[in-house]
Amino acid sequence: MTQHRKTSNMASTSLNITILGSGTSTGIPVVGCDCPVCCSSDPRNQRTRCSALFSFSDHNVLIDTSTDLRQQALREKIRHVDAVLYTHCHADHVHGIDDLRGFNLSSRNAIPIYGARETLRRISLLFDYIFDDETPSGYIPRLDPREVTGSFQLCGLTFEPIPLLHGELEVFGYRCGPAAYLTDCSSIPESSMPLLRNLQLLVLDGLRFKAHPTHFNIPEALEVAARIGAERTLLTHLSHEVNHSHDEKNLPAGIEFAYDGQRVTLPMVVNRSDERQPALRSDQS
Ligand SMILES: [Zn+2]
Ligand SMILES: [Zn+2]
Ligand SMILES: [Zn+2]
Repeated sequence: MTQHRKTSNMASTSLNITILGSGTSTGIPVVGCDCPVCCSSDPRNQRTRCSALFSFSDHNVLIDTSTDLRQQALREKIRHVDAVLYTHCHADHVHGIDDLRGFNLSSRNAIPIYGARETLRRISLLFDYIFDDETPSGYIPRLDPREVTGSFQLCGLTFEPIPLLHGELEVFGYRCGPAAYLTDCSSIPESSMPLLRNLQLLVLDGLRFKAHPTHFNIPEALEVAARIGAERTLLTHLSHEVNHSHDEKNLPAGIEFAYDGQRVTLPMVVNRSDERQPALRSDQS
């Protein structure tokens, strides 16, 4: 339950982080695979493509538009989206973009999509029908691309991009208050480490046990998580190598495997005077 206690323009609220998808790019089960994880009845071993939702007051900020966005939105009963923050332009993180159309119905304005310049450029090339002037507007999501060059305000909260390396590709994680979401990375530049101090929640790439050229494997993720020292760390972007109930026993205290639908609630302070900017919801004008 969200609470507001006013002190000038600042009010306390709750930040809810929902793991919409905890799976790697194939999703789990993997098509055609009969391994024990893909055949498991443990719902935590069924993983849609990687994404998360940051919710506060009545605002929803979506991280990426995964291939499974529609299914995730129906499952979590997401009725509106105030903005999308893109981490990078790989297929599993963007291919649900067309399903933002549904959210345009509850929003009078275009939905702002935030990302690095190169990410937005790649998205506009891959989905040119959304951004050209030729497709009739009723058939495309109405989006408003906004380049991220540093921290920015969204509905009263500050979001900070965290530069990461995903193999050789420069990507963004995002921090909001006490929570950071760092999917798809294989190293964290030293210059980004100060941005990750004093976290209550860290969501971190931890693909599988075997090494991978563009993702932290689990031993690497544990090392990085220990260095960052968040109170609680969830490993995400998990492959079918990870058997939730079997492998979680071997994780150190404070580190868990994420699962679809998992929700973490953290206390936050929001600036009420900024909360209505940008005016995105039809009921806010
Ligand atoms: Zn990915
Ligand atoms: Zn499998
Ligand atoms: Zn990727």
